[in-house]
Amino acid sequence: MADPIFYKTAVELSGLLSEGAISSVELTQAIIDRTQAVEPKIHAFLSYATEDALNQARQSDQRRQRGETDGPLDGIPVSLKDLIAVKDHPLTCASKMLETFVSPYDATVTRRLKQAGAVLWGRLNMDEFAMGSSTENSAFAPTANPWDLEKVPGGSSGGSAAAVAAGETILALGSDTGGSIRQPAAFCGVVGLKPTYGRVSRYGLVAFASSLDQIGPFGRCVADTALLFQTIAGHDPLDATSYPTELPPVSFETKKGPWKLGVPKEFFGEGIDAAIQRAVEQAIDFYCKTGECECIDLSLPHTDLAIPTYYIIATAEASSNLARYDGVRYSHRSQQATDAIDLYFKSRGEGFGAEVKRRIILGTYVLSQGYYEAYYVRAQKVRTLIRQDFTQAFETVDAIVTPTSPTPAFKRGERLSDPLAMYLSDIYTLSANLAGLPAISIPCGKHPCGLPIGLQLIGKPFQENDLFAIAYQFEIHHDYAQQRPI
Ligand code: GLN
Repeated sequence: MADPIFYKTAVELSGLLSEGAISSVELTQAIIDRTQAVEPKIHAFLSYATEDALNQARQSDQRRQRGETDGPLDGIPVSLKDLIAVKDHPLTCASKMLETFVSPYDATVTRRLKQAGAVLWGRLNMDEFAMGSSTENSAFAPTANPWDLEKVPGGSSGGSAAAVAAGETILALGSDTGGSIRQPAAFCGVVGLKPTYGRVSRYGLVAFASSLDQIGPFGRCVADTALLFQTIAGHDPLDATSYPTELPPVSFETKKGPWKLGVPKEFFGEGIDAAIQRAVEQAIDFYCKTGECECIDLSLPHTDLAIPTYYIIATAEASSNLARYDGVRYSHRSQQATDAIDLYFKSRGEGFGAEVKRRIILGTYVLSQGYYEAYYVRAQKVRTLIRQDFTQAFETVDAIVTPTSPTPAFKRGERLSDPLAMYLSDIYTLSANLAGLPAISIPCGKHPCGLPIGLQLIGKPFQENDLFAIAYQFEIHHDYAQQRPI
């Protein structure tokens, strides 16, 4: 049976648009209808503006009639995690702190999407300020996993992954500080890429931990993800950490193999769900036998230090970045305050949720006098060791293959009262952020409980094309991306 329009890929839709088989208005209307039909169950969006989206679609159709299309994304609906600025639209970070905030400017990725003619659809739910692994920390409502409504979609970009999986948008952007694109992609059975640090501009991305944050694409297949990456990546003078080199043409069909794939022993064994381990081992077998790859066992010896290192550096940076929400210049302002100091206390006390407060307190502690050397400076040294593990591994391999998450999507509420269990969700994804490396998650199997399983490929700096090529080889021989949750 042919897919309904909202489940088609961007690549297919781009073809249909250019043949004139559909219009962007029809496509956008189909996405709006689908969203309105399933949102009561999924709650992937924090806001959307139907008339605004239809207007953009009309403009795209008019461009096309004049023979002036702006490229393959022209007329295709793309939705953004609600921490990426879109001029004149809400930007809440799923926080009461910014509940009424409207962005006065566009993020660089937003500007690039507009230039490419994309139809900017809704703003997607997330953990408050991107802190979390389940989207339950949203101050407004949790998002459900489209494969099983009792389960979380992962986080913090849970809205992005769920919306793509449920056909409520064709493409989506998220952000990844410690796994927030890859883990929800794995939980929802879609493709998600965390680009190399510096590859995609952070201008207009609300900062969580600036040395770790990257914006990245979600798609229903590797080609769609690559297409969106191509549109948003590349140097931006507005971001001082943006890599000042031109983006090579994005490709995923390169026949550069045989690839050498590293299999790090620290990512298998203890703590991993047996069915996930089996699925990932089968994927590795596939690569060795059919995929023209050589698989090499290796060790990344500092892997077990990734979680403590991440939670010192990320909280330190967050405590500094979130100091700006003081209720004075913008953000929630308490009506109960009696003087200036009280205004800061009450505005922050009322505006931030429990997890954000926990991070600010932890971050302030590790940066305070007397503890700075013992925690923050030491964490930076360990970060270097983790990076060196990868540098060494990449002397012999082209990419590293691991599970994305040790478990499939878990039940809503299950880890909420246990922050440490929640933090363990990111055990396989954090290292790529600490080392600044690109990493992709692709669907690689189905758990006996019916939920998707994700495979992670970690690449050399700025070699996103290698990841696309290796991921694509797997995808063309498997149909996990073709399965529909609801
Ligand atoms: N789950 C991790 C955290 O809570 C990662 C979040 C992210 O990547 N934004 O910090």
